[in-house]
Amino acid sequence: MSLQKLVRTAATLSIGKLMTAASVLLVLSWVCGAAEPRISIPSYNQFTPDDELKIGGALAHDFESGREILSNPLLDHYLNDLVKRLGKASLRPELVYTCRVVNTNDVNSYSFPGGTIFVTTGLLAFVEDESELASVLAHEIGHIAGRHYLNRLSLEMRSKSLWDQTRKMLPLLDSAQVQQAFQKIGVPITGLAVQQYDRSNENEADLLAVYNLVRAGWNPLGEVRALDRLQNPGGSQGETATMLSVHPNPTDRSRAVSAEIKTMALASSLDDNSLSFRAMKTGLSLLPKPGRGR
Ligand SMILES: [Zn+2]
Repeated sequence: MSLQKLVRTAATLSIGKLMTAASVLLVLSWVCGAAEPRISIPSYNQFTPDDELKIGGALAHDFESGREILSNPLLDHYLNDLVKRLGKASLRPELVYTCRVVNTNDVNSYSFPGGTIFVTTGLLAFVEDESELASVLAHEIGHIAGRHYLNRLSLEMRSKSLWDQTRKMLPLLDSAQVQQAFQKIGVPITGLAVQQYDRSNENEADLLAVYNLVRAGWNPLGEVRALDRLQNPGGSQGETATMLSVHPNPTDRSRAVSAEIKTMALASSLDDNSLSFRAMKTGLSLLPKPGRGR
């Protein structure tokens, strides 16, 4: 087919057909376990790296203010070491990744634009080795690296006037009022703060985590084990209902992650566990119970 004919044919395809073709390619790439997802900034996301830090910082501050945040230097140090190691091996190594602990039995984790991550004490009780914990952190780093939050927020900013108003508002953004500030100009962000991403974002974060784990030196099979146990928690501690309600089915996720890992040649030197992880697990019983640490 000549170039002109190819261009003419492409021009006659409807957007619907193009989207169908794109979906088929996406599905094929999942089935074939193709390669690490590539991160690109969609044209509708006009937030700058500075905006990302400003909005992420404000949202994280807002998130903290409504929750019981634990401040335990040893635990914070351990978790921050993990996210730094993963962050350096992520597709956005330029960001400063930090991790804090929310004291609740809910098994969950959260991430905010720019690099802030939270894990719950329920999650720390749930994971059985360091590769499982690292896989959850790598999944959150995947959401951050993929700019999933600001991509979604950008879809709400349909008009130029909303962008203009946001530009004016950002320098004045008060972290305690971040949701109200966006709502005032007509951009609803309440739902975004509870971390409900769409299925493609979740799939992308899962696969980014696989490659991030391997580059950082952890066994990605920890991600499969954590997902499998999420589906069948058995005797594990913690409450998984909230995590399950905002993520796709763990069995489907585990299957996609396993398929990807099968395409990779894994080095036998990858870490599953560490003494620091075991010390962290022992120390968990010494932490204040949820509701008593404030
Ligand atoms: Zn997620």
